Amino acid sequence: MQTRDFSKDFKTLSGEVNGNRLVYLDSAATTQKPDVVIEAIKHYYENINANPHRGAYHLSIEATKAYDAAREKVKSFINAKTSKEVIFTKNATEAFNLLAASYGMDNIESSDEIVISIAEHHSNLIPWQRVAKAKGATLKYMYTNEFGELTLEEVKSKITEKTKIVSITHVSNALGTINNISEIIEYAHSKGAIVIVDGAQSVPHMKVDVQKLDADFLVFSGHKLLAPMGIGVLYGKQELLEAMSPFMLGGDMVEYVYEQEATFDELPFKFEGGTQNVEAAIGLGCAIDYLEEIGMDTVSKIEQELMEYAISEMRKLPFVTIYGPSKIENRSGVISFGIEGVHPHDVASIFDTHGVAIRAGNHCAQPLMRYMGINATCRASFYLYNKKEDIDKLIEVIKVAYNMFSKWR
Ligand code: PMP
Repeated sequence: MQTRDFSKDFKTLSGEVNGNRLVYLDSAATTQKPDVVIEAIKHYYENINANPHRGAYHLSIEATKAYDAAREKVKSFINAKTSKEVIFTKNATEAFNLLAASYGMDNIESSDEIVISIAEHHSNLIPWQRVAKAKGATLKYMYTNEFGELTLEEVKSKITEKTKIVSITHVSNALGTINNISEIIEYAHSKGAIVIVDGAQSVPHMKVDVQKLDADFLVFSGHKLLAPMGIGVLYGKQELLEAMSPFMLGGDMVEYVYEQEATFDELPFKFEGGTQNVEAAIGLGCAIDYLEEIGMDTVSKIEQELMEYAISEMRKLPFVTIYGPSKIENRSGVISFGIEGVHPHDVASIFDTHGVAIRAGNHCAQPLMRYMGINATCRASFYLYNKKEDIDKLIEVIKVAYNMFSKWR
Protein backbone atom coordinates (compact mmCIF):
# COMPACT_ATOMS: atom_id res chain seq x y z
CA MET A 1 0.00 0.00 0.00
CA GLN A 2 1.01 3.63 -0.41
CA THR A 3 3.68 5.15 1.78
CA ARG A 4 2.31 8.69 1.82
CA ASP A 5 -1.18 9.65 2.99
CA PHE A 6 -2.31 11.77 0.05
CA SER A 7 -5.66 12.51 1.69
CA LYS A 8 -3.83 15.07 3.84
CA ASP A 9 -3.43 17.25 0.74
CA PHE A 10 -7.23 17.54 0.40
CA LYS A 11 -9.15 19.65 2.93
CA THR A 12 -12.56 18.18 2.05
CA LEU A 13 -11.31 14.73 3.03
CA SER A 14 -10.73 15.74 6.62
CA GLY A 15 -14.42 16.59 6.87
CA GLU A 16 -17.26 14.76 8.58
CA VAL A 17 -20.64 13.69 7.25
CA ASN A 18 -23.48 12.76 9.59
CA GLY A 19 -21.03 12.45 12.47
CA ASN A 20 -18.73 10.11 10.53
CA ARG A 21 -15.39 10.60 8.83
CA LEU A 22 -16.09 11.37 5.17
CA VAL A 23 -15.16 8.44 2.95
CA TYR A 24 -15.24 9.72 -0.60
CA LEU A 25 -15.75 6.92 -3.12
CA ASP A 26 -17.15 8.88 -6.05
CA SER A 27 -14.06 10.08 -7.88
CA ALA A 28 -15.41 8.75 -11.18
CA ALA A 29 -18.05 11.53 -10.92
CA THR A 30 -15.61 14.20 -9.84
CA THR A 31 -12.45 14.29 -7.76
CA GLN A 32 -11.59 16.31 -4.70
CA LYS A 33 -9.10 19.16 -5.21
CA PRO A 34 -5.72 19.32 -3.49
CA ASP A 35 -4.74 22.46 -1.58
CA VAL A 36 -2.13 23.34 -4.23
CA VAL A 37 -4.79 23.56 -6.94
CA ILE A 38 -7.03 25.77 -4.81
CA GLU A 39 -4.01 27.94 -3.99
CA ALA A 40 -3.06 28.24 -7.67
CA ILE A 41 -6.53 29.56 -8.51
CA LYS A 42 -6.40 32.01 -5.59
CA HIS A 43 -2.95 33.15 -6.70
CA TYR A 44 -4.22 33.71 -10.23
CA TYR A 45 -7.10 35.93 -9.08
CA GLU A 46 -5.01 37.80 -6.54
CA ASN A 47 -2.09 38.47 -8.87
CA ILE A 48 -2.59 38.05 -12.59
CA ASN A 49 -6.27 38.12 -13.48
CA ALA A 50 -6.82 39.56 -16.97
CA ASN A 51 -8.16 38.38 -20.30
CA PRO A 52 -5.30 36.53 -22.06
CA HIS A 53 -4.29 37.10 -25.70
CA ARG A 54 -6.08 40.47 -25.69
CA GLY A 55 -4.13 43.15 -23.92
CA ALA A 56 -0.63 44.54 -24.40
CA TYR A 57 -0.44 45.41 -20.70
CA HIS A 58 1.42 43.58 -17.96
CA LEU A 59 -1.47 41.66 -16.38
CA SER A 60 -2.80 40.37 -19.68
CA ILE A 61 0.69 39.26 -20.69
CA GLU A 62 1.06 37.40 -17.37
CA ALA A 63 -2.37 35.79 -17.76
CA THR A 64 -1.44 34.74 -21.31
CA LYS A 65 1.81 33.19 -20.08
CA ALA A 66 0.02 31.25 -17.35
CA TYR A 67 -2.70 30.05 -19.76
CA ASP A 68 -0.12 28.98 -22.36
CA ALA A 69 1.96 27.25 -19.68
CA ALA A 70 -1.08 25.20 -18.66
CA ARG A 71 -1.49 24.08 -22.28
CA GLU A 72 2.18 23.06 -22.40
CA LYS A 73 1.68 20.94 -19.28
CA VAL A 74 -1.27 19.15 -20.86
CA LYS A 75 0.80 18.64 -24.01
CA SER A 76 3.60 16.88 -22.12
CA PHE A 77 1.20 14.99 -19.86
CA ILE A 78 -0.45 13.20 -22.80
CA ASN A 79 2.65 13.44 -25.02
CA ALA A 80 1.09 15.45 -27.85
CA LYS A 81 3.55 16.49 -30.57
CA THR A 82 2.76 20.17 -30.17
CA SER A 83 0.59 22.35 -27.95
CA LYS A 84 -1.38 23.30 -31.10
CA GLU A 85 -2.95 19.87 -30.70
CA VAL A 86 -4.36 20.73 -27.26
CA ILE A 87 -7.71 22.52 -27.28
CA PHE A 88 -9.29 23.65 -24.04
CA THR A 89 -13.00 22.97 -23.77
CA LYS A 90 -15.52 23.23 -20.95
CA ASN A 91 -15.47 19.46 -20.31
CA ALA A 92 -15.40 16.11 -22.10
CA THR A 93 -19.01 16.61 -23.17
CA GLU A 94 -18.17 19.82 -25.01
CA ALA A 95 -15.21 18.13 -26.67
CA PHE A 96 -17.48 15.36 -28.01
CA ASN A 97 -20.00 17.90 -29.23
CA LEU A 98 -17.21 19.82 -30.95
CA LEU A 99 -16.00 16.65 -32.65
CA ALA A 100 -19.47 15.65 -33.77
CA ALA A 101 -20.39 19.14 -35.01
CA SER A 102 -17.06 19.71 -36.75
CA TYR A 103 -15.34 16.45 -37.70
CA GLY A 104 -18.59 14.49 -37.89
CA MET A 105 -20.61 17.01 -39.89
CA ASP A 106 -17.61 17.75 -42.16
CA ASN A 107 -16.75 14.15 -42.98
CA ILE A 108 -19.71 11.80 -42.60
CA GLU A 109 -21.84 10.86 -45.62
CA SER A 110 -24.93 8.74 -45.95
CA SER A 111 -23.11 5.52 -46.83
CA ASP A 112 -20.78 5.84 -43.82
CA GLU A 113 -20.83 4.16 -40.45
CA ILE A 114 -19.96 5.55 -37.05
CA VAL A 115 -19.06 2.84 -34.55
CA ILE A 116 -19.28 3.20 -30.79
CA SER A 117 -19.71 0.70 -27.97
CA ILE A 118 -22.86 0.01 -25.97
CA ALA A 119 -20.96 1.07 -22.84
CA GLU A 120 -20.45 4.68 -23.92
CA HIS A 121 -21.31 7.61 -21.70
CA HIS A 122 -24.24 9.59 -23.14
CA SER A 123 -21.81 12.37 -24.07
CA ASN A 124 -20.10 10.00 -26.50
CA LEU A 125 -23.37 8.68 -27.84
CA ILE A 126 -26.04 11.33 -28.33
CA PRO A 127 -23.80 13.65 -30.44
CA TRP A 128 -23.23 10.72 -32.84
CA GLN A 129 -26.96 10.02 -33.02
CA ARG A 130 -27.39 13.58 -34.23
CA VAL A 131 -24.65 13.29 -36.87
CA ALA A 132 -25.97 9.94 -38.09
CA LYS A 133 -29.53 11.32 -38.35
CA ALA A 134 -28.46 14.54 -40.06
CA LYS A 135 -26.34 12.70 -42.63
CA GLY A 136 -28.49 9.59 -43.07
CA ALA A 137 -25.50 7.54 -41.88
CA THR A 138 -25.51 4.47 -39.64
CA LEU A 139 -24.63 4.48 -35.94
CA LYS A 140 -23.41 0.98 -35.12
CA TYR A 141 -22.74 -0.52 -31.68
CA MET A 142 -20.10 -2.92 -30.47
CA TYR A 143 -21.63 -5.00 -27.68
CA THR A 144 -19.83 -6.19 -24.59
CA ASN A 145 -19.69 -9.79 -23.40
CA GLU A 146 -21.33 -10.83 -20.11
CA PHE A 147 -18.39 -9.33 -18.19
CA GLY A 148 -18.68 -5.92 -19.83
CA GLU A 149 -15.64 -6.54 -22.02
CA LEU A 150 -15.30 -5.88 -25.74
CA THR A 151 -13.82 -8.87 -27.52
CA LEU A 152 -11.62 -8.51 -30.58
CA GLU A 153 -14.13 -10.63 -32.53
CA GLU A 154 -16.85 -8.09 -31.75
CA VAL A 155 -14.55 -5.21 -32.72
CA LYS A 156 -13.67 -6.93 -36.01
CA SER A 157 -17.28 -7.75 -36.79
CA LYS A 158 -18.42 -4.13 -36.42
CA ILE A 159 -15.57 -2.03 -37.81
CA THR A 160 -15.52 -2.35 -41.58
CA GLU A 161 -14.38 -0.41 -44.66
CA LYS A 162 -17.59 1.63 -44.29
CA THR A 163 -16.55 2.86 -40.82
CA LYS A 164 -15.33 6.44 -40.82
CA ILE A 165 -15.33 7.16 -37.06
CA VAL A 166 -14.81 4.87 -34.09
CA SER A 167 -15.49 6.66 -30.81
CA ILE A 168 -14.77 4.53 -27.81
CA THR A 169 -14.13 4.82 -24.13
CA HIS A 170 -10.73 3.80 -22.79
CA VAL A 171 -12.19 2.99 -19.36
CA SER A 172 -15.91 2.53 -18.71
CA ASN A 173 -17.35 4.82 -16.05
CA ALA A 174 -20.23 2.41 -15.55
CA LEU A 175 -18.38 -0.92 -15.26
CA GLY A 176 -14.73 -0.03 -14.76
CA THR A 177 -13.67 -2.08 -17.80
CA ILE A 178 -10.32 -1.10 -19.33
CA ASN A 179 -10.73 -1.55 -23.08
CA ASN A 180 -7.82 -2.76 -25.15
CA ILE A 181 -7.65 0.59 -26.85
CA SER A 182 -4.38 0.02 -28.76
CA GLU A 183 -5.82 -3.07 -30.41
CA ILE A 184 -9.02 -1.23 -31.35
CA ILE A 185 -7.11 1.76 -32.75
CA GLU A 186 -4.82 -0.47 -34.80
CA TYR A 187 -7.74 -2.40 -36.25
CA ALA A 188 -9.80 0.72 -36.97
CA HIS A 189 -6.84 2.33 -38.74
CA SER A 190 -6.37 -0.78 -40.87
CA LYS A 191 -9.93 -0.19 -42.10
CA GLY A 192 -9.35 3.51 -42.73
CA ALA A 193 -11.37 4.86 -39.78
CA ILE A 194 -10.23 7.53 -37.34
CA VAL A 195 -10.47 6.82 -33.62
CA ILE A 196 -11.69 9.11 -30.85
CA VAL A 197 -10.73 7.95 -27.37
CA ASP A 198 -12.84 8.91 -24.38
CA GLY A 199 -10.13 9.35 -21.76
CA ALA A 200 -12.42 10.80 -19.05
CA GLN A 201 -11.83 7.76 -16.81
CA SER A 202 -8.33 6.85 -17.97
CA VAL A 203 -6.21 10.00 -18.30
CA PRO A 204 -6.57 10.88 -14.58
CA HIS A 205 -5.59 7.36 -13.52
CA MET A 206 -2.90 5.99 -15.81
CA LYS A 207 -0.22 7.12 -18.22
CA VAL A 208 -1.94 7.85 -21.54
CA ASP A 209 0.42 8.64 -24.42
CA VAL A 210 -1.44 9.79 -27.53
CA GLN A 211 1.53 9.18 -29.83
CA LYS A 212 2.14 5.69 -28.52
CA LEU A 213 -1.56 4.87 -28.88
CA ASP A 214 -1.74 6.64 -32.23
CA ALA A 215 -5.09 8.09 -31.12
CA ASP A 216 -6.57 10.56 -33.60
CA PHE A 217 -8.48 12.39 -30.89
CA LEU A 218 -8.56 12.11 -27.11
CA VAL A 219 -11.07 13.73 -24.81
CA PHE A 220 -11.04 14.25 -21.04
CA SER A 221 -12.33 16.47 -18.24
CA GLY A 222 -10.17 18.36 -15.74
CA HIS A 223 -12.56 17.94 -12.82
CA LYS A 224 -11.98 14.18 -12.78
CA LEU A 225 -8.23 14.85 -12.58
CA LEU A 226 -8.04 16.96 -9.37
CA ALA A 227 -8.62 20.16 -11.38
CA PRO A 228 -11.57 22.56 -11.21
CA MET A 229 -14.86 22.06 -13.02
CA GLY A 230 -15.31 23.94 -16.28
CA ILE A 231 -12.14 22.82 -18.04
CA GLY A 232 -11.76 19.92 -20.44
CA VAL A 233 -9.34 18.90 -23.13
CA LEU A 234 -9.68 17.89 -26.73
CA TYR A 235 -6.46 16.50 -28.18
CA GLY A 236 -6.40 16.04 -31.94
CA LYS A 237 -3.73 15.28 -34.53
CA GLN A 238 -2.71 18.60 -36.02
CA GLU A 239 -3.61 17.74 -39.61
CA LEU A 240 -7.10 16.61 -38.58
CA LEU A 241 -7.76 19.70 -36.46
CA GLU A 242 -6.48 21.97 -39.22
CA ALA A 243 -8.89 20.49 -41.74
CA MET A 244 -11.89 20.80 -39.40
CA SER A 245 -14.45 23.60 -39.30
CA PRO A 246 -14.46 25.68 -36.13
CA PHE A 247 -17.16 24.98 -33.56
CA MET A 248 -17.86 28.09 -31.46
CA LEU A 249 -17.80 31.24 -33.54
CA GLY A 250 -17.04 34.67 -32.13
CA GLY A 251 -14.25 36.59 -30.50
CA ASP A 252 -10.67 35.36 -30.19
CA MET A 253 -10.94 32.55 -32.75
CA VAL A 254 -10.84 34.76 -35.87
CA GLU A 255 -8.20 36.23 -38.13
CA TYR A 256 -10.19 38.69 -40.28
CA VAL A 257 -13.90 39.42 -40.18
CA TYR A 258 -15.71 41.06 -43.11
CA GLU A 259 -19.38 41.85 -43.46
CA GLN A 260 -20.22 38.50 -45.06
CA GLU A 261 -17.14 36.35 -44.42
CA ALA A 262 -14.57 35.54 -41.78
CA THR A 263 -11.24 33.73 -41.68
CA PHE A 264 -10.11 31.85 -38.64
CA ASP A 265 -7.14 31.93 -36.33
CA GLU A 266 -4.55 29.18 -36.26
CA LEU A 267 -4.60 26.21 -33.89
CA PRO A 268 -5.41 25.93 -31.06
CA PHE A 269 -7.25 29.28 -30.96
CA LYS A 270 -9.52 28.40 -33.89
CA PHE A 271 -11.42 26.13 -31.49
CA GLU A 272 -11.43 28.43 -28.47
CA GLY A 273 -14.09 31.03 -29.23
CA GLY A 274 -14.82 33.62 -26.56
CA THR A 275 -13.29 34.24 -23.16
CA GLN A 276 -11.87 31.04 -21.75
CA ASN A 277 -11.86 29.54 -18.26
CA VAL A 278 -8.32 30.70 -17.53
CA GLU A 279 -8.26 29.95 -13.81
CA ALA A 280 -9.50 26.41 -14.43
CA ALA A 281 -6.80 25.86 -17.08
CA ILE A 282 -4.21 27.04 -14.57
CA GLY A 283 -5.75 24.75 -11.96
CA LEU A 284 -5.49 21.88 -14.46
CA GLY A 285 -1.82 22.64 -15.07
CA CYS A 286 -1.24 22.61 -11.33
CA ALA A 287 -3.13 19.32 -10.90
CA ILE A 288 -0.94 17.78 -13.62
CA ASP A 289 2.19 18.98 -11.78
CA TYR A 290 0.86 17.41 -8.59
CA LEU A 291 0.18 14.06 -10.28
CA GLU A 292 3.45 14.04 -12.19
CA GLU A 293 5.42 14.65 -9.06
CA ILE A 294 3.85 11.50 -7.60
CA GLY A 295 4.13 9.67 -10.91
CA MET A 296 1.25 8.22 -12.89
CA ASP A 297 2.61 4.70 -12.39
CA THR A 298 2.36 5.19 -8.63
CA VAL A 299 -1.15 6.62 -8.97
CA SER A 300 -2.23 3.55 -11.00
CA LYS A 301 -0.57 1.19 -8.54
CA ILE A 302 -2.33 2.71 -5.52
CA GLU A 303 -5.71 2.46 -7.22
CA GLN A 304 -5.04 -1.03 -8.51
CA GLU A 305 -4.21 -2.24 -4.99
CA LEU A 306 -7.33 -0.62 -3.54
CA MET A 307 -9.50 -2.12 -6.26
CA GLU A 308 -8.00 -5.60 -5.87
CA TYR A 309 -8.51 -5.48 -2.11
CA ALA A 310 -12.10 -4.26 -2.52
CA ILE A 311 -12.93 -6.92 -5.10
CA SER A 312 -11.46 -9.71 -2.97
CA GLU A 313 -13.48 -8.56 0.07
CA MET A 314 -16.69 -8.09 -1.94
CA ARG A 315 -16.34 -11.54 -3.48
CA LYS A 316 -16.59 -12.97 0.05
CA LEU A 317 -20.14 -11.58 0.32
CA PRO A 318 -22.60 -13.91 -1.47
CA PHE A 319 -25.32 -11.23 -1.53
CA VAL A 320 -23.18 -8.83 -3.57
CA THR A 321 -23.19 -8.87 -7.38
CA ILE A 322 -20.10 -7.32 -8.94
CA TYR A 323 -20.60 -6.13 -12.50
CA GLY A 324 -17.83 -5.81 -15.06
CA PRO A 325 -14.69 -7.78 -15.89
CA SER A 326 -13.92 -11.04 -14.12
CA LYS A 327 -10.24 -10.62 -14.97
CA ILE A 328 -8.66 -8.22 -12.49
CA GLU A 329 -6.21 -6.88 -15.10
CA ASN A 330 -9.14 -5.56 -17.16
CA ARG A 331 -10.45 -3.53 -14.22
CA SER A 332 -9.84 0.07 -13.19
CA GLY A 333 -10.60 1.64 -9.81
CA VAL A 334 -14.32 1.77 -10.59
CA ILE A 335 -16.50 -0.98 -9.12
CA SER A 336 -20.15 -1.33 -10.06
CA PHE A 337 -22.15 -3.57 -7.75
CA GLY A 338 -25.55 -4.50 -6.44
CA ILE A 339 -26.76 -5.75 -3.05
CA GLU A 340 -29.43 -8.45 -3.15
CA GLY A 341 -32.84 -7.06 -2.21
CA VAL A 342 -31.73 -3.44 -1.79
CA HIS A 343 -32.32 -0.81 -4.47
CA PRO A 344 -29.11 1.04 -5.43
CA HIS A 345 -30.65 4.38 -4.44
CA ASP A 346 -31.45 3.02 -0.96
CA VAL A 347 -27.89 1.68 -0.78
CA ALA A 348 -26.47 5.12 -1.57
CA SER A 349 -28.70 6.77 1.08
CA ILE A 350 -27.68 4.23 3.72
CA PHE A 351 -24.03 4.79 2.79
CA ASP A 352 -24.52 8.52 3.23
CA THR A 353 -25.77 8.09 6.78
CA HIS A 354 -22.39 6.41 7.45
CA GLY A 355 -20.43 9.21 5.80
CA VAL A 356 -19.63 7.18 2.68
CA ALA A 357 -20.18 8.84 -0.71
CA ILE A 358 -20.93 6.40 -3.52
CA ARG A 359 -22.92 6.81 -6.70
CA ALA A 360 -26.13 5.00 -7.62
CA GLY A 361 -27.95 5.14 -10.92
CA ASN A 362 -27.43 4.46 -14.59
CA HIS A 363 -24.13 6.39 -14.73
CA CYS A 364 -25.18 8.26 -17.89
CA ALA A 365 -25.14 4.93 -19.72
CA GLN A 366 -28.81 4.05 -20.21
CA PRO A 367 -28.29 1.91 -23.34
CA LEU A 368 -25.74 -0.19 -21.41
CA MET A 369 -28.09 -0.67 -18.45
CA ARG A 370 -30.92 -1.65 -20.79
CA TYR A 371 -28.60 -4.08 -22.61
CA MET A 372 -27.59 -5.61 -19.26
CA GLY A 373 -31.25 -5.84 -18.19
CA ILE A 374 -30.83 -3.71 -15.06
CA ASN A 375 -32.00 -0.23 -14.08
CA ALA A 376 -29.14 0.92 -11.95
CA THR A 377 -26.03 -0.11 -10.07
CA CYS A 378 -24.12 1.17 -7.06
CA ARG A 379 -20.67 2.46 -7.94
CA ALA A 380 -17.62 2.93 -5.75
CA SER A 381 -14.64 4.59 -7.40
CA PHE A 382 -11.19 5.29 -6.02
CA TYR A 383 -8.38 7.76 -6.41
CA LEU A 384 -4.92 8.15 -4.94
CA TYR A 385 -6.31 9.75 -1.77
CA ASN A 386 -8.28 6.65 -0.76
CA LYS A 387 -6.93 4.23 1.81
CA LYS A 388 -7.40 0.63 2.84
CA GLU A 389 -9.60 1.77 5.74
CA ASP A 390 -11.96 3.38 3.19
CA ILE A 391 -12.44 -0.04 1.62
CA ASP A 392 -13.00 -1.59 5.04
CA LYS A 393 -15.73 1.00 5.62
CA LEU A 394 -17.25 0.21 2.22
CA ILE A 395 -17.45 -3.48 3.09
CA GLU A 396 -18.80 -2.76 6.57
CA VAL A 397 -21.61 -0.57 5.23
CA ILE A 398 -22.48 -3.05 2.46
CA LYS A 399 -23.17 -5.56 5.25
CA VAL A 400 -25.21 -2.99 7.19
CA ALA A 401 -27.32 -2.22 4.11
CA TYR A 402 -27.95 -5.90 3.41
CA ASN A 403 -28.93 -6.65 7.01
CA MET A 404 -31.18 -3.60 7.22
CA PHE A 405 -33.43 -5.06 4.52
CA SER A 406 -33.31 -8.65 5.80
CA LYS A 407 -36.78 -8.51 7.37
CA TRP A 408 -38.32 -8.05 3.91
CA ARG A 409 -36.60 -11.09 2.46
N1 PMP B 1 -17.06 10.04 -20.56
C1 PMP B 1 -16.94 9.32 -19.45
C2 PMP B 1 -16.39 7.93 -19.54
C3 PMP B 1 -17.31 9.87 -18.22
O1 PMP B 1 -17.18 9.15 -17.12
C4 PMP B 1 -17.83 11.18 -18.19
C5 PMP B 1 -18.28 11.80 -16.88
N2 PMP B 1 -18.98 10.94 -16.04
C6 PMP B 1 -17.92 11.89 -19.39
C7 PMP B 1 -17.51 11.29 -20.55
C8 PMP B 1 -18.45 13.29 -19.43
O2 PMP B 1 -17.66 14.12 -18.66
P1 PMP B 1 -18.17 15.60 -18.30
O3 PMP B 1 -19.46 15.44 -17.57
O4 PMP B 1 -17.08 16.13 -17.44
O5 PMP B 1 -18.32 16.32 -19.58
